[in-house]
Amino acid sequence: MSIAMPVPDSETLAKRARIAQALRAIVPGEGVIDAPEALTPWESDGLTAYRQPPLMVVLPETTAQVSAVLKWCHAEGVKVVPRGAGTSLSGGALPLADAVLLGLGKFKRVLEIDYEDRVAVVQPGVTNLAITQAVEGRGFYYAPDPSSQIACTIGGNVAENSGGVHCLKYGLTTNNVLGVEIVMMDGEIVRLGGRHLDPCGLDLLGVVVGSEGLLGVVTEVTVRILPRPETARAVLVGFPDAEQAGACVAQVIAEGIIPAGMEMMDRPAIHAAEAFVEVGYPLDVGALLIVEVDGPAAECDFLIGEIARIADANGAVTTRVSQNEAERMAFWAGRKAAFPAVGRISPDYLCMDGTIPRRRLPDVLRRMEELSQEYGLRVANVFHAGDGNLHPLILYDANVPGELDKAEAFGADILRLCVAVGGVLTGEHGVGIEKRDLMPEMFSDADLKQQSRVKCAFDPELLLNPGKVFPVLHRCAELGRMHVHHGALPHPDLPRF
Ligand SMILES: Cc1cc2nc3c(=O)[nH]c(=O)nc-3n(C[C@H](O)[C@H](O)[C@H](O)COP(=O)(O)OP(=O)(O)OC[C@H]3O[C@@H](n4cnc5c(N)ncnc54)[C@H](O)[C@@H]3O)c2cc1C
Repeated sequence: MSIAMPVPDSETLAKRARIAQALRAIVPGEGVIDAPEALTPWESDGLTAYRQPPLMVVLPETTAQVSAVLKWCHAEGVKVVPRGAGTSLSGGALPLADAVLLGLGKFKRVLEIDYEDRVAVVQPGVTNLAITQAVEGRGFYYAPDPSSQIACTIGGNVAENSGGVHCLKYGLTTNNVLGVEIVMMDGEIVRLGGRHLDPCGLDLLGVVVGSEGLLGVVTEVTVRILPRPETARAVLVGFPDAEQAGACVAQVIAEGIIPAGMEMMDRPAIHAAEAFVEVGYPLDVGALLIVEVDGPAAECDFLIGEIARIADANGAVTTRVSQNEAERMAFWAGRKAAFPAVGRISPDYLCMDGTIPRRRLPDVLRRMEELSQEYGLRVANVFHAGDGNLHPLILYDANVPGELDKAEAFGADILRLCVAVGGVLTGEHGVGIEKRDLMPEMFSDADLKQQSRVKCAFDPELLLNPGKVFPVLHRCAELGRMHVHHGALPHPDLPRF
């Protein structure tokens, strides 16, 4: 493990039995898991290179229980790590030895569907796909569709501001969440946003979405649901190399076309996916684009023509348009299964996540290939090309000494490259622990302190998900948070507004 985590607090470890007893009084029955052998399934999330059994797992079923657990932990100075389905690829839900792992898996109910207002109110443990399944009978769906949608929860999606294939046209989680109920670390229950389109006051909902479990625990989510478009068609376009495919993506967007989704796979990813799902991807191309358009049939026909024209101009060697719904789904099946497919050709892989301006795709893909040669590690690219959101999968073998470190160094270089070309460290997987130590590549010390002040406003004792996102945890007092003791204001001479 090359990423250091905060040293566990010995006082908390010493009072483990008392903590379990107190939390059992709040969440009785099987709501507290503390037997060491029962903690193993919880010791990791999707970033499986990192493992750490939690102090204990607590599985509340009601907001009142979440509030009481947090209030008790706050009073006792016990840290808490929120967890949904544990599919985070950035280690956001990685447990800490001295922290309670607060699992929201029992919050599984769809509370309300309002087709007139086009919203659904759901508990945070409802999976992303289950929201669509709950409304599809009436011709609706929930647009953000991470590839992990069968497993990941909407609470995790809110925390990570997750994206997916269709976010190019329909926006990320933040554009599709209208309101949340969150419980603050001191147990206070707060509602932000609602069914209305714009929040009143400061956009605190915007702050909470993407806050990676550092500001509060989400206990209810109100999402926008959309009517299914009349038509959706997908086009498979093969190119001799990834650079030409990247240039095609940049030109499609530059010409003002916003497809419903525009994904790219390079040669290693195409071969892995085809071997896994056998959907008929061309194997003699260097890169494949899957472009989906949706809307009225006439609009789709027109856009497909335009996309084919741009693809030809960029050297496309094969173009196939889906002729029916089964074929469209088949085109996507390989893309959606690409991560597990790559898992079959390598003992381990690291899935990186950085975002770049689309016009830099060809240069970045070329440089990534050079880095692959320099590090002697293969890389497979499967990504949201339309958003410029890269997901290089670095293939390695954890059983070969030093190979994980090499893969991490390669990954760090890719993310530095993303920042250097004007992009950002993460598109949708979050910072977590994975990119924590790279934050200074993108933010100055002053930027990071300013972000820490936001954290302090929500969680001044830094008890919620510590060790994640911020490379240095400043005590809030160091950041100038004012502490009023017995009503005596510090610096009474300063004017206050
Ligand atoms: C095969 C695979 C494919 C993936 N594809 C995509 C993709 O296409 N797009 C994408 O964006 N991501 C993708 N991911 C990453 C992952 O699925 C998302 O980040 C997802 O949103 C995590 O949800 P989760 O329920 O598993 O959350 P967890 O992994 O349990 O937690 C993630 C973070 O959210 C916090 N959290 C969880 N629940 C709550 C809550 N109720 N309140 C407050 N904080 C909370 C945790 O503390 C942690 O920081 C993929 C992962 C895998 C394994």
